[in-house]
Amino acid sequence: MAPELMKCPSCGKVYAPRAGKYMCAQCAVRRMRIISLVEEAVEKYGKSSPEDVAAFAGVPLHEAKAIINESGFLSSKVNPDLTCVRCKQRPAQPHAEYCLLCRLELNRDLDSARRDLAAKVASNAKRRSEMARGRPTGLTSEMGKKRALAVVRRVDPTPKGRY
Ligand SMILES: [Zn+2]
Ligand SMILES: [Zn+2]
Repeated sequence: MAPELMKCPSCGKVYAPRAGKYMCAQCAVRRMRIISLVEEAVEKYGKSSPEDVAAFAGVPLHEAKAIINESGFLSSKVNPDLTCVRCKQRPAQPHAEYCLLCRLELNRDLDSARRDLAAKVASNAKRRSEMARGRPTGLTSEMGKKRALAVVRRVDPTPKGRY
């Protein structure tokens, strides 16, 4: 097969693609006719469910839904009611690829990723500013040493009493 030949995603026929065409000429014509029928069903006849549109245009429901979903105008009039691309169980939200639940989950994942990143950046900044300030000196550090020494004495485990 010559490299410039493609397989039509619609009918599987091998064809030589032209610029801007993603299916064979026959399917492209058929597709265009379907699209105009779908548009007519929505615009002229006010069909507002994918089932009605599919019946009017005489196309399989999934095809009608795909056409509706591809067009911003059509999907603003008809909810194509597609299945969520993530869970493939619940219906997708209008004009979205995901159902509400998956969208919330994705947002939460994104949020926690964002929080992780923010925490990392903050701790890096803190470390940098501590390094820039250097070690504490002077009185504070003397007091700190004494306090540390006192703590060591208090917890000194030498068992003097035993001897
Ligand atoms: Zn084709
Ligand atoms: Zn989902």
